[in-house]
Amino acid sequence: MPFTELGLSADILSAIEEMGYEEPTPIQASAIPLILGGTDVIGSAQTGTGKTAAFGLPILQKLEKHDSSHIRALILEPTRELAAQVDEAMRTFSKNTDLHISVIYGGVGYGKQREELAAGIDVLVATPGRLLDLARQGDCRLDKVDFVVLDEADRMLDMGFMPDVRAILEMCQRDRHTSLFSATIPPIIETMITWAMREPETIEIGRRQSAAETVKHVIYEVAHSQKDDLLLAILDQVHYESVIIFCRTKMGADTIARLLNRNKHSVVALHSDRSQKERDEALQGFRDGKYEVLVATDIASRGLDITKISHVVNYDVPENAEDYVHRIGRTGRAQNEGDAFTLMVAEDAIHVHSIERYIDQKVPRERLEGFDYKYTALFDHAKDTTTSAHDRKFKQVRVAGGYHFSASGGRGKKRRRKR
Ligand code: AMP
Repeated sequence: MPFTELGLSADILSAIEEMGYEEPTPIQASAIPLILGGTDVIGSAQTGTGKTAAFGLPILQKLEKHDSSHIRALILEPTRELAAQVDEAMRTFSKNTDLHISVIYGGVGYGKQREELAAGIDVLVATPGRLLDLARQGDCRLDKVDFVVLDEADRMLDMGFMPDVRAILEMCQRDRHTSLFSATIPPIIETMITWAMREPETIEIGRRQSAAETVKHVIYEVAHSQKDDLLLAILDQVHYESVIIFCRTKMGADTIARLLNRNKHSVVALHSDRSQKERDEALQGFRDGKYEVLVATDIASRGLDITKISHVVNYDVPENAEDYVHRIGRTGRAQNEGDAFTLMVAEDAIHVHSIERYIDQKVPRERLEGFDYKYTALFDHAKDTTTSAHDRKFKQVRVAGGYHFSASGGRGKKRRRKR
């Protein structure tokens, strides 16, 4: 079904055309008519499926014209980066309308945010903590909010935002439309759904645990003392354009960033101990190609829309199986194919096992050609499959039933937007 048949206005359709979207993704085709028709929607979809437009376009259409007297749509996001990304997308979608979009999040001064709130906003994108702060101080009223979107709800839960989210929803009028997007629906979110939504319809796109289909992933088993050397050797062998390296801790991320810097990689670190200004600069610099390597904690693993990531390296195996899927999902976005490498030490066996159970497949083990491995107990079980990282032909690992719009080959081509 083309965009023109979804009931969207000419202003919105022209913005979609300018963005180069040729046809709606499945979640857009399902959610847009439902939201336009006033139904509450639960979207169980991964990032990369086009969910921002799925909720953003119909909300903009319903708001029609600017009204400076009160906030009418509220989109809650778990992190500042996601809030900034959704704000930017909403501004682009609404560029041919007179609607005012704004974003508020913590870690920066209150002054500009207060000014924008005072000037009158139609759509507010926010992280829960700062919004609650401002609302309690009387800087914004939410009692006329008609549309609420709880985006990445499971992430908000993980980050301990649910009490804030609940307090915010209590400030919004009861007679509102609520949409919720979440890769998983744990019991607390079920409770939230019962409490906050009215006869919602669920749209499930793909199996929840599906890994991005274009990603080929492998594990390198290694002794703990050789992790740094192996990482450097992989980066030397792989002809990467842009790579994200995930570390478990903020300190670990800083240490790896320093190591790579000493070894002449153009690198920047992203984690929550860095100031907002540093985080913005890191992300923008990585997007623009100023930095080729981004070393990050899981703050960067979900949702961030950075195209053109050629490789993901898990310097540490994630403890949470879902984080693995999100991390490797950073590559293989849009039409780009990507490779994901995971460094595994003996103590990681239990986490690797749960990842493999979660994605329902064994991740192939590889060894890097020419690397002088020290013994690790892991090798007793492993079959030697020495390869060179850039010559190696990966076995394409696919997850049945998964859906990633960009991986489907036959779908409308996405023109890459310049960021
Ligand atoms: P999201 O899942 O909302 O983060 O979107 C992922 C990426 O897909 C973003 O770069 C969007 O601009 C892009 N996108 C969303 N919908 C479409 C579409 N219908 N056609 C092509 N690209 C899209």
